[in-house]
Amino acid sequence: MTTSKLIDGKAVAETIKKEIAEEVAAMIDADLKAPHLAAILVGNDPASETYVASKEKACHAVGITSTTYRLPGSTTEKELNQVIDFLNQDDDVDGFILQLPLPKHLNADHFIERIHPSKDVDGFHPVNIGRMQLGLPCYLPATPYGVVELLKRSKVAVAGKHCVVVGRSNIVGTPLSILLSRKSEFGNATVTLCHSRTANLKSLTLQADILIAAIGQADFIQADMVKPGAVVIDVGIHRLSDTSKEKGYRLAGDVNFEQVKSVASYITPVPGGVGPMTIVSLLQNTLSASQNRVYSKP
Ligand code: NDP
Repeated sequence: MTTSKLIDGKAVAETIKKEIAEEVAAMIDADLKAPHLAAILVGNDPASETYVASKEKACHAVGITSTTYRLPGSTTEKELNQVIDFLNQDDDVDGFILQLPLPKHLNADHFIERIHPSKDVDGFHPVNIGRMQLGLPCYLPATPYGVVELLKRSKVAVAGKHCVVVGRSNIVGTPLSILLSRKSEFGNATVTLCHSRTANLKSLTLQADILIAAIGQADFIQADMVKPGAVVIDVGIHRLSDTSKEKGYRLAGDVNFEQVKSVASYITPVPGGVGPMTIVSLLQNTLSASQNRVYSKP
């Protein structure tokens, strides 16, 4: 039995935050304004509240200005359009995100398309997704960006490896499959993208040199689905009720960590793996937006 090494996303995220803080401090020293990230939060979904609070805290820690527009769950399409249009035009705001999910009466795709691509620091706009696919400068979606950065900084080579990504959502699995398979400096993997209609999933996960789970089902990946020595990245995050804990719950991923850690060579924990990387990726995109690194401002 082997005991795998942890890929410490929290520590890597702290290192990147320090780098961002230094760049922001240098901008302020040069009499430039601090980068400014805004978020629109519609309704009071508890997970969204937590995410937006973490984002505000992370911005504060690195010197990025953070503003949150809190709108009631009853917000109409017209009202949300107006806030997006305002932020698109506000020169003080470098980038903004629309926190998902939205209440059921609002169609997320419509609003994402309304965000100007140059301010879409979540990297969800079709223009940014298309540019990513073509290898052009763009804002990368935060979680895939975070996973790639985590692999890179943990010195996990991906070129020539077989990466199996389980989950094909537009915000995680599909963009990850594109990034890892691109002909680019940190790409060149052979990628298999799996989903709920994949036949013989286990036979595919067992072939993975790098297995990435973005499924949305707690403890889904079991030890017998993992090739010995594989690198396992767990994107999933779930709150499971656990009366033995003071808070009444424990956090779990899409990977059964206790089982899989005996098989994998490297593994990300939950919490402290991919989660902290998602937020720093958003900070990185905001910094890039403020420095016009992706789209030059008119
Ligand atoms: P989605 O629900 O949008 O997508 C889940 C994907 O998993 C779908 O492609 C689905 O297939 C596939 N899937 C579901 N069941 C199975 C199965 N039995 N076998 C194979 N594939 C299956 O989830 P997200 O991509 O948004 O999120 C995935 C996980 O990552 C969640 O736990 C989420 O909470 C977490 N997450 C974590 C983040 C972080 O920062 N750590 C950020 C974003 C998400 P199909 O397409 O056929 O339906």
